[in-house]
Amino acid sequence: MSVRLRLTLWYGGVLAGVLLAFAAVLYGTMAAAMRTQVDRSLEDAARTAIRSLEAHRFGPFLLFEDLSADFPELATLDKFFQIFGPSGTITIKSPNLRQHDIPLSRPAIEAAVQGLTTFESARYPGEPPMRLVAVPVRHGDALVNIVQVGTSLEPVEAMLHRLLLILLIAGPLTLAVSLAGGWFLAGRALRPVAAITAAARRIAAGDLTQRLNEPTSCDEIGQLIQTFNQMIAKLDASFRQIRQFSTEASHELRTPLTVLKGEAELALRRNRSAEDYRHVLESALEEIDRMARIVDELLFLSRADVGEVPLESKPVALHTVVDDVRRQAEVLAQEKRIAVLASRLDPCTVTADEWRLHELVLNLVSNAITYSHPDGRVELRLTCQGGLAELTISDQGIGIAPDELPRIFDRFYRTTAARAHAKTGTGLGLAIAKWIAEAHGGAIRVSSMPGHGSTFTVTLPLSSAAAPAV
Ligand code: ADP
Repeated sequence: MSVRLRLTLWYGGVLAGVLLAFAAVLYGTMAAAMRTQVDRSLEDAARTAIRSLEAHRFGPFLLFEDLSADFPELATLDKFFQIFGPSGTITIKSPNLRQHDIPLSRPAIEAAVQGLTTFESARYPGEPPMRLVAVPVRHGDALVNIVQVGTSLEPVEAMLHRLLLILLIAGPLTLAVSLAGGWFLAGRALRPVAAITAAARRIAAGDLTQRLNEPTSCDEIGQLIQTFNQMIAKLDASFRQIRQFSTEASHELRTPLTVLKGEAELALRRNRSAEDYRHVLESALEEIDRMARIVDELLFLSRADVGEVPLESKPVALHTVVDDVRRQAEVLAQEKRIAVLASRLDPCTVTADEWRLHELVLNLVSNAITYSHPDGRVELRLTCQGGLAELTISDQGIGIAPDELPRIFDRFYRTTAARAHAKTGTGLGLAIAKWIAEAHGGAIRVSSMPGHGSTFTVTLPLSSAAAPAV
């Protein structure tokens, strides 16, 4: 069942309920009000008749004309009168009753004896439905007469019947018109959904450049279209990134393979000395190492992408990790006579995977050494403040151009200056470092001046501050 049909049916159902309740309340209150009015006018007429009776001192041979002469309102056509003796025998009958015989009911006589007024609805064969009131007339303690006034309920019933007819016609008509309106409006409101479906279909067929026309309004549909477009833009960007990533990965792996192949072919062209073979094998090993590193790093990143990198969550003394890395890096830095110093190492405990933190710091420090000039200086500084451990690694190396800064954490991205400076990089180290920092609930940022050096800052939540997102 389509949403349009469902909406219309729901709307129709609710409206039908409301109309039905409205009609029932209207009919009920109208009927009650009209019946009350009839009763009141009957009672008034009875009181007039009693006053007339009293005016004539309840004479035994009174005629209706005697009464109506003084009280002309008794001669109205729509009501009839009967005045009974205390035993229930008729003494006076209004002329409009003619030959009709309307007796006083037993309950009415019994109530009159007790001095009570009785209202009754009665239906006699061949007569219209009637409403009757019987009022006792007392003189002192004795019941002298019972005045009965009656009227036909036909006009009231006819009016109620007409009201019912109007409601029965107007109700369904209103419902039908509203349903048609609801169907039309639901169709109009849902029209953009059809456009979204069509676009989604084209996108599903592989065309990620498709976008929906930006809406002019900011209503629910407008927001849906905007969100949809943003989602497609994101998907488009990620697919592009994946394609670029595979291109770059194959390119990075092909280079060492080409070198390997070239060297092996060259070596095999003629017989060579053991020394030459040794050189070729050493060079081959270097390339194999490089490829193995790329494959390891790629494997790590793809596992990280699907959440398959297990992370320990234990208290780790970050200052110890930093100092270990510093000592390890000193050895690496020796060749270029670079000094690796820790200007400040506050004791900080973070909840983390120690080995991954070691990898993160080592990545940044080895980059600082790689992209430093000989005789340079790499400075480490660890502080704890406001629930955060902040580690900065500064170098005085080649720096990073401002337009390249936002891209250095991308996989395989290497700056032009870095490519010229060092041949060995893979462009994956910073992507891994960023993932490790973020997986521990931290962050990594960089500032740099081309030609003057770079500063990488890692922030991690301290153990007491917050549990890491591992
Ligand atoms: P790589 O193996 O190339 O070092 P990374 O992912 O570790 O790969 O770094 C990505 C790029 O960021 C590097 O190629 C280099 O261009 C730049 N970079 C990283 N660290 C520094 C630094 N300390 N100084 C200058 N450039 C850096």
